[in-house]
Amino acid sequence: MAIYPKRDDLRELSGYHSPQVSVKVRLNTNESPIAPPTDFVEAVSAAVHEVQWNRYPDRTATALRQDIAALHGVSADNVFVANGSNEVLQSLLLAYSGAGRKVVTFEPTYQLHSHIARIAGATVVSGQRNADFTLDAAEVRRVCAEHEPSVTFLCSPNNPTGLAESPDVLRAAIESTPGIVLVDEAYAQFSPHSALELVREDARVAVSRTYSKTWSMAAARLGYLVAPTWMIADLEIVALPYRLDALKQAAGRAALRYVKQMEAAVREVVTQRERLVAAMAKLPLTVWPSDANFILFRPAGAGRALWQALLDQSVLVRDCSSWQGLTDCLRVTVGTAEENDAFLAALQSALPFVLQSALQARD
Ligand code: PMP
Repeated sequence: MAIYPKRDDLRELSGYHSPQVSVKVRLNTNESPIAPPTDFVEAVSAAVHEVQWNRYPDRTATALRQDIAALHGVSADNVFVANGSNEVLQSLLLAYSGAGRKVVTFEPTYQLHSHIARIAGATVVSGQRNADFTLDAAEVRRVCAEHEPSVTFLCSPNNPTGLAESPDVLRAAIESTPGIVLVDEAYAQFSPHSALELVREDARVAVSRTYSKTWSMAAARLGYLVAPTWMIADLEIVALPYRLDALKQAAGRAALRYVKQMEAAVREVVTQRERLVAAMAKLPLTVWPSDANFILFRPAGAGRALWQALLDQSVLVRDCSSWQGLTDCLRVTVGTAEENDAFLAALQSALPFVLQSALQARD
């Protein structure tokens, strides 16, 4: 009897992984460095006793969707919830992409956009950013007009390059595609603008958000989409029933009672980000501006060597040096003041050596 191997179209793909190693200073996955308020943890502990553990959870997660909707001034019918925004994106791609359809990304960007699109069976077409990683509205129009994608991804602020997309770019995508424009706003609270106001019943725009960053809840795996009601209904067709457990629904609601604390934590991270950017700009590095909680930087010729040298000092950052268009680039997540001090000290001590070795290797 013949045994089926995995699908032919998965042969070229490998899983998406960021190293999880045990280090003193972990600045590689853009989590919040600040724990959620103690009162939030107390509220979740209390919820453990209220859950009817022998019963399935509310399949429609209505109370959670109502609370998220109230936060954004929309209706619960405009909100889709899932296990992290990655699952939101997967649901959207299952509903609107697939074999015979095209998905557009603008590289370099969040790798899971193209990865999940390929797993969903779609053909991925990549538009290009400028040398400084900004994106031109004209490039967006060109790619959308030529390929007529069923889904176009914009990531704002863009991971891993850092800047929010301009309103011109959003408009260009909306005007030139026959498909859905998904604006991934995982880092929106750190940035000056949002596409939420572009979500309307008669537009094909959706905005994804996550609890993993600004809400200090990466451990919970919770994300959502704000979109027209017809799109939410389409996503409910492909999503698994009872996907959000009862405790997660309670935790998601409890978090929304601490908006002020979340905003204070965001301000603290932004202050730390500006301090880091200023300190890094004085070093022999290329440093890109950021509207998010991470900073992209390039030690010329020495990306991988610097990543290892930092790790040797128990500081873990993201090695983006093998990603398309990001030769020698590393990405550091903004941490607490102490973590940032440790990162800067490790960087200052490692840089002269790795840059010197890179120069010697070139000569
Ligand atoms: N979108 C972007 C741009 C991200 O950077 C991330 C997390 N790295 C996600 C989505 C996924 O977040 P979540 O934890 O909600 O799945």
